[in-house]
Amino acid sequence: TKGAAMVTAVASRLQAQRKQIDKVLALFRLTQEQLVGIRNKMRVEFEYGLKKDTHPLATVKMLPTYVCGMPDGTEKGKFLALDLGGTNFRVLLVKIRSGRRSVRMYNKIFAIPLEIMQGTGEELFDHIVQCITDFLDYMGLKGAQLPLGFTFSFPCRQASIDKGTLIEWTKGFKATDCEGEDVVDMLREAIKRRNEFDLDIVAVVNDTVGTMMTCGYEDSNCEVGLIAGTGSNMCYMEEMRNIELVEGDEGKMCINTEWGGFGDNGCLDDIHTQYDKEVDEGSLNPGKQRYEKMTSGMYLGEIVRQILIDLTKQGLLFRGQISERLQTRGIFETKFLSQIESDRLALLQVRRILQQLGLDSTCEDSIVVKEVCGAVSRRAAQLYGAGLAAIVEKRREDQGLEHMRITVGVDGTLYKLHPHFSRILRETVKELAPQCDVMFMLSEDGSGKGAALITAVAKRLQQTQRE
Ligand code: BGC
Ligand code: MG
Repeated sequence: TKGAAMVTAVASRLQAQRKQIDKVLALFRLTQEQLVGIRNKMRVEFEYGLKKDTHPLATVKMLPTYVCGMPDGTEKGKFLALDLGGTNFRVLLVKIRSGRRSVRMYNKIFAIPLEIMQGTGEELFDHIVQCITDFLDYMGLKGAQLPLGFTFSFPCRQASIDKGTLIEWTKGFKATDCEGEDVVDMLREAIKRRNEFDLDIVAVVNDTVGTMMTCGYEDSNCEVGLIAGTGSNMCYMEEMRNIELVEGDEGKMCINTEWGGFGDNGCLDDIHTQYDKEVDEGSLNPGKQRYEKMTSGMYLGEIVRQILIDLTKQGLLFRGQISERLQTRGIFETKFLSQIESDRLALLQVRRILQQLGLDSTCEDSIVVKEVCGAVSRRAAQLYGAGLAAIVEKRREDQGLEHMRITVGVDGTLYKLHPHFSRILRETVKELAPQCDVMFMLSEDGSGKGAALITAVAKRLQQTQRE
């Protein structure tokens, strides 16, 4: 009959649509074999970055940090910390009490307007000093000369703990006249321009390093720091003898891997999709930070958006209508992805979130959107897992151990907020580094506390050197 024919027609159209959607989602599925390959490539890049000959061209930069030891519990005092480069800019006062290993913190969050993030370097640093001034006023600390640790979450080449030359901006920053300059000098000059107070800048610290330090304060087995947030990065303790860029063979030093640049030499091209390319091209730093752009909070939502645009063009979503909203960059923040993927959420609520984002969806649409988010965040977690497996395996082999236990200090909104990311990351590490027992430790405010701890250790070393 006519009715039955129509049902068959609809069914076969749905089936065809399903096929098209599956074809897109399949691009994001990584086989075990591919993941092993990615782990192995990451390992090769680590070695390139560490070796003098290959370092200049290495895409994973393996930057020495001059952080050589963990806090020993004798650190104490009041410190200021700055935290630039994550979701917010913050100024903190950190009080460390020795013995009990207790830390008290007071902080203030400041917005950095887009026009300052992407204005001139002077404007950016003047703004930072303005925020410090507000904070000191607020805390009644004007005139107190406290040692300061500066968490600056961008790739910096360091020649000592209190010097850091910005190699290049990443994420949402693009202030002029900063690349190739020492960020501590820029901060000092901005303080001078203001001519109201002086600060004793003791350390410049990557957020991964601060995170590792914070967790290391409680667990001495913590020798890796991981950030899965706006950006993506990892640091770890390396044997001095393997660090060819730094004299000396004794002891260990923390290496900031800057693994976000993994893939910039084309070694991930086989898994790079057309959507990744579009995200890259629309970013502030095209061609750079490929791995970061496949894994971190600033970009996952953008990948999702690119897929949704394509599915809509194919007539598979939103009744084939590409709304202005869907064409707006940055609408899918990490918190929305996390909400959409939450298992406790009924589809109706997914639709409500999409509606909040200005996207009018049917029930079928919301199912597809959820699947797309899942495919993108799963791939990100697996890629993180492959990278992490590479470092723990390297550490195990370097120490000639059959089996190794290690703690990884973690921070970042993606790791903390997303309903599945951390589990998939852990499962992947287990599969790709079966001889390692990896413990994950959430860092409570690693950037602030860690910078203060590093400053405290550096201050103590300065004093013993003087004595
Ligand atoms: C930066 C790293 C930083 C990471 C996480 C990346 O974009 O290059 O230095 O650790 O983001 O904040
Ligand atoms: Mg050496």
